[in-house]
Amino acid sequence: MTHRRLETAELLAVGAELLVGETRDTNSGDLARELTALGVEVLRLSALPDRLDAVADALRGALAHADLALTTGGLGPTPDDLTREAIAAVCGVEPYVDPTLEAWLRGMFERRGLPYSTANQKQAWLIPGATSLPNPNGTAPGWWVDLPDGRVIVALPGPPREMGPMWRDEVLPRLRAAGLGADRAAETLRLSGIGESMLVDVIGEETLRQPNPEVATYARVDAVDVRVSATGAAGRTAREMVDAEVERLWPALGRYVFARGDEGWPTAIARRLGDRTVALLEVGTGAQLAGMIGAEPWARLEEVRPAGAPDALDPQVAARAVRERGGCDIGVCLVAEERVDDTAVRIAITDGVRATIEDHVAFLGGEQGRRRAANIACMVLWRWLEPAG
Ligand code: AMP
Ligand code: MG
Repeated sequence: MTHRRLETAELLAVGAELLVGETRDTNSGDLARELTALGVEVLRLSALPDRLDAVADALRGALAHADLALTTGGLGPTPDDLTREAIAAVCGVEPYVDPTLEAWLRGMFERRGLPYSTANQKQAWLIPGATSLPNPNGTAPGWWVDLPDGRVIVALPGPPREMGPMWRDEVLPRLRAAGLGADRAAETLRLSGIGESMLVDVIGEETLRQPNPEVATYARVDAVDVRVSATGAAGRTAREMVDAEVERLWPALGRYVFARGDEGWPTAIARRLGDRTVALLEVGTGAQLAGMIGAEPWARLEEVRPAGAPDALDPQVAARAVRERGGCDIGVCLVAEERVDDTAVRIAITDGVRATIEDHVAFLGGEQGRRRAANIACMVLWRWLEPAG
């Protein structure tokens, strides 16, 4: 049998419930994230109905491109669970009942006082080249199938609480032993105060199209992310390439970057606060700011007022007052007022010596506008905390 490094993968989520929107396919996203972190490039995710031809076709397609085809779902005992049948069809073999698996399965039913039905029998199936993956959390064992050309099919059960442990305890060690992925590295810069479209101009289309290192932008709720990723090439490691690209982009982007990786506003603000505490007063935001940073240990007082409350009249006075009431180092007052299509935002901050007030406009009204208002407040506070010099 040929040995092959597993550098690319396709993920197939099997189950009619995914296609009618009853169940969200969380498995593929979770596995894609893990595989990517391991340096395996995920080429495609698909969701498939419980139909033998559909699953078999998709598997054939996956194996035409990827080193690893990973399925979740369709391993149950019922006739509509067809993943094993599809894998056997693609491999051109007949499944057989594995005596050890059958004994284990029968034992489990006996211990629970449940009748063992013929429907369960296929959960004891194997095919040549397949190893069964134990499932301590259910009745469906998984499959690891080594194909003659070195490619691998892995079949995992659909329920996330069965899939997750099997992935971690059974699949990961086997994948590592098989030799995984290329040398990959990535870094995410989190930006605020610049929209995604303006960011495209700042980074430049040419950079956004280059394949390696790759630079991509993603609009998130609280920020715009710039993700720089690379595959080691021409004698340079992936990490070196990512670091060099981040350094090249820094003069244009650095002033917008408030965090890296999966950090958010709470961490970014905490870094600049040191041991200082903050009292917050928000008006007309439906407690969005409280939801974002109110639970942080440095947020000592959190007051929420409805739109149009008197505090809105003079946010600077309100910021001073809430600072006093909370006995905090810093007082922040955020006022949001919905207009026709957007939200007017005022933020006042004071530490008793320095004070500022800023006006901004948050795109959109309603809940979206209120959430953006809270984001803007975080940004203004974070900037205001910028160390001198
Ligand atoms: P199965 O292995 O097809 O019997 O899957 C059983 C159950 O697992 C389904 O009813 C769903 O609740 C859940 N499930 C299946 N596929 C997924 C998926 N891709 N993401 C999240 N949950 C899933
Ligand atoms: Mg199913």
